[in-house]
Amino acid sequence: MNIDSIQNGVVLDHIQAGKSMDIYRYLHLDELDCQVAIIKNARSEHMGKKDIIKIDYPLDLDLDVLGYIDSNITVNIIRDGKRVEKKHLELPQKLVNVIHCKNPRCITVAESQLDAIFLLSDPAKHTYRCAYCETAIDKKF
Ligand SMILES: [Zn+2]
Repeated sequence: MNIDSIQNGVVLDHIQAGKSMDIYRYLHLDELDCQVAIIKNARSEHMGKKDIIKIDYPLDLDLDVLGYIDSNITVNIIRDGKRVEKKHLELPQKLVNVIHCKNPRCITVAESQLDAIFLLSDPAKHTYRCAYCETAIDKKF
């Protein structure tokens, strides 16, 4: 399967080599019935090696989650066999229910109906802090 063979779908390009399975799991791509192609260690002029994921379905991706995992990924939207949009990601300012607080005294642990909200506190280190107790979570990808 190459880009040309996708009629309506999404191609995630410039994934850091070896990270495609993390993204596959985080985006719950295993729950899709459509074709999903994972290309590992593709040659890249800029990156040396990269991973690519091709999804043969016009999936509405959570760009905040993707940006959190790896903000260097480019998202190509394919319609009628042509690339109609190329999106660049950035680190989201806010994450809701993506990561969870590890402070056992945090109110989100006791009150599980609360959304787990994290705010970006240090973009250079990819550090997020819990909006309730300010516990820091370092980038885990
Ligand atoms: Zn917390």
